[in-house]
Amino acid sequence: MSTSRPGLAGCLSAIRELEQQYGREPGSVALVAVSKKQPVEAIRVAAAAGQRAFGENYLNEALEKQAALADAELEWHFIGAIQSNKTAAIASHFSWVHTVDRVRIAERLSRQRPQELGPLNVLLQVNISGEASKNGVAPEALDDLVRATRELPQLSLQGLMALPAPEPDPEIQRQAFAAVAALGARAGLPHLSMGTSADFAAAIAAGATMIRLGTAVFGPRPDTA
Ligand SMILES: *Cc1c(COP(=O)(O)O)cnc(C)c1O
Repeated sequence: MSTSRPGLAGCLSAIRELEQQYGREPGSVALVAVSKKQPVEAIRVAAAAGQRAFGENYLNEALEKQAALADAELEWHFIGAIQSNKTAAIASHFSWVHTVDRVRIAERLSRQRPQELGPLNVLLQVNISGEASKNGVAPEALDDLVRATRELPQLSLQGLMALPAPEPDPEIQRQAFAAVAALGARAGLPHLSMGTSADFAAAIAAGATMIRLGTAVFGPRPDTA
């Protein structure tokens, strides 16, 4: 099922094929290239090939790369765990934040988002795997977090994000993503950020609108190679 030509072009064509295979609108699945631990040069190569959206997990690493790439028109997505002492910098240096999972963090991001940048696009991370993951809001607590986030003037709530526990069986992968999609539909949210290199076919089958690919785009991360 999953197509595994490596590199940016291979990922983009795999996404287009999977959209077709699963009856999704052409172009309805966006690629966020996850560049954590990858050098600036790798980002430049992808940007030169037309990739605009990049995902980073670690704030200091991201800020260094953004400074080095200030000449490129890139869209930065924060996809890592958020510590409250980092919210001001995240609110100022990213267009999207995928990992909001509590009201306190949402409030800080809204308060600290510079007015002139307009509302920050946020996704609420849902913990769909129960005890296997400590990040993300529990599905039962999602409604309250959605309601609170919608009240915040400098946040634009766009959807949900999930990072299910690793699972080799594509059908079980798809069920986890379908559960996230059902929560998103119930809350009336348009975007679903779900799927990594290991499970993006199942995520596209279940309705992902943004998939977050690192290894499939760039190859193994230098520290894990
Ligand atoms: C690292 C990471 C990814 C990308 O994982 P790959 O397996 O390299 O595609 C996606 N999402 C999150 C939240 C990550 O931390």
